[in-house]
Amino acid sequence: MEKIRMTTPLVEMDGDEMTRILWKMIKDELLLPFVDLKTEYYDLGLEKRNETNDQITVDAANANKKYGVAVKCATITPNAARMTEYNLKEMWKSPNGTIRAILDGTVFRAPIPVKGIEPNVKSWKKPITIARHAYGDVYKNTEMVIPGPGKAELVFTAEDGTETRELIHQYKGAGVLQGMHNLNASIESFARSCFAYALDTKQDLWFSTKDTISKKYDHTFKDIFQEIYEKDFQEKFRQAGITYFYTLIDDAVARVMKSEGGFIWACKNYDGDVMSDMISSAFGSLAMMTSVLVSPDGNYEYEAAHGTVQRHYYKHLKGEETSTNSVATIFAWSGALRKRGELDDLKELQEFADKLEQATIATIEKGKMTKDLALITSLPDPTVLNSQEFIQAIRKELEGLLK
Ligand code: NAP
Ligand code: MG
Repeated sequence: MEKIRMTTPLVEMDGDEMTRILWKMIKDELLLPFVDLKTEYYDLGLEKRNETNDQITVDAANANKKYGVAVKCATITPNAARMTEYNLKEMWKSPNGTIRAILDGTVFRAPIPVKGIEPNVKSWKKPITIARHAYGDVYKNTEMVIPGPGKAELVFTAEDGTETRELIHQYKGAGVLQGMHNLNASIESFARSCFAYALDTKQDLWFSTKDTISKKYDHTFKDIFQEIYEKDFQEKFRQAGITYFYTLIDDAVARVMKSEGGFIWACKNYDGDVMSDMISSAFGSLAMMTSVLVSPDGNYEYEAAHGTVQRHYYKHLKGEETSTNSVATIFAWSGALRKRGELDDLKELQEFADKLEQATIATIEKGKMTKDLALITSLPDPTVLNSQEFIQAIRKELEGLLK
């Protein structure tokens, strides 16, 4: 069989620990035998980040901007324990944070549905995608513990020195206080990414905030979304047969629980953090989620939603068998290859991505799966495979589909 052709390289960002092991297995078994794989390789493994003073992460993000599509392996975000383990020069920042800051994007996370791993919410028939705003609010807050009676005010000093004041509270006793902010530019790019992704995936877009209570802060989010929608997207949505729908977050939660799924739910930073954990656990597991960072100017970075699965890696290092689920990492590759195929108008590459996903799902639906899924499946007598056997089983299915 002749290998499937690529014209533009994918930006390949390698990573750490167990996911780095899976990364190589996926390339060797599921990609290189079938695709004339073109990538521009960046090693974001912690050793290389340390050696290059994290310049490699910046270079990888810039390459993503240049070529448009990247696929990323899970990476370690260093903490104190990693400082000693890897003898680090500095506690390097989260690569995801660095990449997000350079691309200025929104993260979209959606469960991968398979028969045999049923959602806990009975009405959900299709995946629900969470779009989480990744800037500001409580994640960039300033807090104080108030020891006793006194006055707290919000003060804004304009560049010309003019002050605007607003009383927050006249404390009669001890309490707590918090200040937070957001930026119109960030909210606008969040809105644009959501509208663009809805068009790209042909799904309705929902957006919810608490604008009835937060009449300036949350209301600004609502207004910016509405303005951008009317100006640049309303007509495109009509042509694509999809809708944009704003509602209060309480109402959204109630509707989500009764829905069939199959839409994108855009959430402010905190809401998205919490709701994506709820959605992913209700659909099965983090290892069965796709995750893609979409920038407002149309760059894509595909990754798995989980981490580097450190516990399994230590077992692997001791020579023990692991049964680590590679589905999310496989779907990161298929997502990136499909997008590359769309941008370069390569039908065969797009079809290959579809078949790789079909083969992965078929393997699980035939009862062959990793341990994490075997524990929750409704299929009778699942066969538990180790990390390598699972990927090899997918290869068999894939070879059948490609004939
Ligand atoms: P994790 O890698 O997501 O794993 C936590 C636990 O979840 C695992 O021990 C395992 O449970 C289960 N699990 C996660 N993915 C799995 C998979 N594919 N197959 C089977 N089981 C899976 O989170 P962590 O251990 O807290 O973090 C490890 C490292 O990952 C940290 O250094 C962190 O900085 C990094 N991290 C990176 C990203 C990213 O790059 N996107 C995201 C999150 C965390 P059992 O042990 O019970 O089997
Ligand atoms: Mg969370």
